[in-house]
Amino acid sequence: MNDTATPRDGRAQARSQELFTAAKRVIPGGVNSPVRAFSSVGGAPPFIKRAQGAYLWTEDDAQLIDYVGTWGPALLGHAHPEVVEAVCKAAADGLSFGAATKAEVEFAERICSMVPSMNGGMVRLVCSGTEATMSALRLARGFTGRNKIVKMDGAYHGHADMLLVAAGSGAATLGIPGSAGVPPRMVEDTVLLPHNDVSAVEQLCTEQGDQLAAIIVEPVAGNMGCVPPRPGYLERLRELCTEHGIVLVFDEVMTGFRVARGGAQERFGVTPDLTCLGKIVGGGMPVGAYGGRREIMESIAPVGPVYQAGTLSGNPLGVAAGLKTLELIDRDPPYAELERRSARLAEGLAQHAAAAGLPFHGNRVGAMLTGFFRAGPVHDYADAKGSDLERFGRFHQQMLARGIYLAPSQFEAAFLSASHDDAIIDRTLEAAAEAFAAIG
Ligand code: PMP
Repeated sequence: MNDTATPRDGRAQARSQELFTAAKRVIPGGVNSPVRAFSSVGGAPPFIKRAQGAYLWTEDDAQLIDYVGTWGPALLGHAHPEVVEAVCKAAADGLSFGAATKAEVEFAERICSMVPSMNGGMVRLVCSGTEATMSALRLARGFTGRNKIVKMDGAYHGHADMLLVAAGSGAATLGIPGSAGVPPRMVEDTVLLPHNDVSAVEQLCTEQGDQLAAIIVEPVAGNMGCVPPRPGYLERLRELCTEHGIVLVFDEVMTGFRVARGGAQERFGVTPDLTCLGKIVGGGMPVGAYGGRREIMESIAPVGPVYQAGTLSGNPLGVAAGLKTLELIDRDPPYAELERRSARLAEGLAQHAAAAGLPFHGNRVGAMLTGFFRAGPVHDYADAKGSDLERFGRFHQQMLARGIYLAPSQFEAAFLSASHDDAIIDRTLEAAAEAFAAIG
């Protein structure tokens, strides 16, 4: 199929609608992760049968320009031929051994060389972002001998019980403050603070610093929409954690290898004690990782007393995809171009929204951006929730009708890939100008 063909109307058509009906009979809500159901933007979700570069093709044969990028992993574009080749080669040698391999050593060495907090440290592979954060926090508790953890309002760190408190992402979209099935005692030791608020953290540390095992933060929030750190915020978190013996955990599942080669910690020059990775680290395969300072990581079994394990951890297919992706990033770093094109897109969106007379505020960090349908700046979850969600829903539908596939929620970021060239940005901006005018 031709990658340069003009996108066609991507609103769910006959085949996707039929499949959605069938899916709802056998899969709760018809989807395997809630936000995919399009509940907050309306309409049935297009069913995807193929992806290449910056494009998706639906079961109705519509071609879409993709800004979801499988929720972040597709940094190099979908189905990069060298990544696919590496996975096929690994598959031919066996799908899983549940045993140590040479490739996972190379992979771990490469991850540690790229992520500042893991330089000279260690990393453990898991299978998802959820597993990475859950395991990192258990480790922080085991290492410090303390129980309390701090998370920020609107941050999403996966669906472990202790973290399903005021979580963003799908939980935000659905307006679920927590989740049924989480016993109150599971979140008793989770302290919730407003995001980006230095004085709230300072006060908590003064009162309870010696009881806190970890502060976990999305260094660039992505699950309330894209929200950059206020100047000095990450630096102050670092200082306070050092002062009070708290393990600082950066959840870089979304930002790792995206906002810079070494993630947000490289971009903002603040090094946490532990880092959680997911998404890009697996190059599209189910891989997560957590790692950091050696003396903390040596608390993990079998070296130390903190238990964590996984049958499919370090799976050869995931390792092959992740390793090849990281090699390609180093061979041909995409970051300068991603920055330039993402800036063009963000500036163009703001201009077209202004021309249509719409309240609109764009946040962007590297190839990660969100346009909020509200007038003022967005520094935290309360600001993000002040957006006009109904208007976002109509914008989403108008964009889809023009072949542009955006995340179906105001509380998500758009992701560019190295395959989103200037022509694709131009087409997106043309569509956006029409969409803004249509919803004005
Ligand atoms: N942390 C962050 C910052 C995330 O964005 C996500 C997923 N969107 C997770 C953790 C959970 O990752 P996974 O969906 O792979 O479990």
